Amino acid sequence: MSFERALRCRECGREYELKPIFSCEFCFGPLEVAYDYDGIREAISTDSIERGPASLWRYAPLLPVDPQYKVDIGTGFTPLIRADRLAKRLGLDTLWLKNDTTNPTWSFKDRVVSMAIARARQFGFTAMACASTGNLANSVSAHSAAAGMEAFVFIPNDLEIGKVIGSAIYAPTLVMVEGNYDDVNRLCTELAGSRPWAFVNINVRPFYAEGSRTLSFEVAEQLGWRTPAHCVAPMASGSLFTKIWKGFQELHKVGLLADEPRIRMSGAQAAGCSPISTAFAQGTLNFVPQKPNTIARSLAIGNPADGYYALKVMEETGGGAEMATDEEIVEGIKLLAETEGIFAETAGGVTIACLQKLVASGAIRRDEETVAFITGGGLKTIEAVEGKLIEPVRVPANAEAFDAALAARQARLVGVGGA
Ligand SMILES: *Cc1c(COP(=O)(O)O)cnc(C)c1O
Ligand SMILES: [Zn+2]
Repeated sequence: MSFERALRCRECGREYELKPIFSCEFCFGPLEVAYDYDGIREAISTDSIERGPASLWRYAPLLPVDPQYKVDIGTGFTPLIRADRLAKRLGLDTLWLKNDTTNPTWSFKDRVVSMAIARARQFGFTAMACASTGNLANSVSAHSAAAGMEAFVFIPNDLEIGKVIGSAIYAPTLVMVEGNYDDVNRLCTELAGSRPWAFVNINVRPFYAEGSRTLSFEVAEQLGWRTPAHCVAPMASGSLFTKIWKGFQELHKVGLLADEPRIRMSGAQAAGCSPISTAFAQGTLNFVPQKPNTIARSLAIGNPADGYYALKVMEETGGGAEMATDEEIVEGIKLLAETEGIFAETAGGVTIACLQKLVASGAIRRDEETVAFITGGGLKTIEAVEGKLIEPVRVPANAEAFDAALAARQARLVGVGGA
């Protein structure tokens, strides 16, 4: 049971049969999955979804794969948290946080990998591969292990240790490439042509990318089958950002949302790798590639494959874009943790810092109900905040020493606050 119909070129509209291919033979445009929306409309209802499993597989008829091939380690249906304390700090009436740090490998990449590996199995592949900035590597490694498949995982050689160990633990063939992500991606694109592997973000990218739509399916369902006024999401390749928007529109197309969504979509990047946000600021749809230099490694794609489409979504929806410096990213991570109890990785810091700027500049109005997407967990990037937090109180194991140390600490904090 699956309602994928063909692959269609996003530029010229030519259609191809469902195969592990990713670009148009005629115009080199990217291919996207086309669906039989009438079939989906017949097969799905809010009731049928609500009776489904507490994972992204509750939306099976909307996914580009036969669910009998799924590798389910618990991805999706993550919490949507009402963030009143953070909203107040930022000057918003209503803010929700889509907390994707709770996925099996602690990032939203489990959503896209769920699609890629299931579709790869359906195609008959026995080995998975990926070019990754870190989180994708973790997710491909874990899902391949659970499926008993071989995995070839390529990462830049300067990644955070949490992301290296977070892949190595699942025993893939882990390849650390000298260079940045764009170098890794170039190598993998070359290898993809000659190896019998499902490269999740290369030859099965059209299927992989569809997984991000489950974020909007979940947000709409968790809001009671309605949409927010504004979404803020981080951008690396820009794929996630464009697919969130596509997902909301499709829910309307298949009859699950009464009204056509009117959502303004705003994107967040690190200042040290901001080709998309810079193009937005300059009022152009044609970004200039950059050489990344930021602590937000998971977003460090200097030549974003979907950058143009992300800019189109901003234009079409009346959204915006912002960028955050490394210092602002750290402040964003801390603000989110201290107000809402969610520890995000650097990409989450980017999102919160950019959200703050969008509200401050008036790009997001106070009364716009806003959803911010927190896409990865903080334990993978502890070096970003190490040494920048309030020091623990260190004491010998007796109560008098504790009382003395606590008094000294309080005096010190008051001193800092009052200075
Ligand atoms: C990969 C990633 C993104 C964005 O990915 P796109 O390439 O723009 O789809 C956002 N957040 C985290 C934590 C990621 O790992
Ligand atoms: Zn084409």
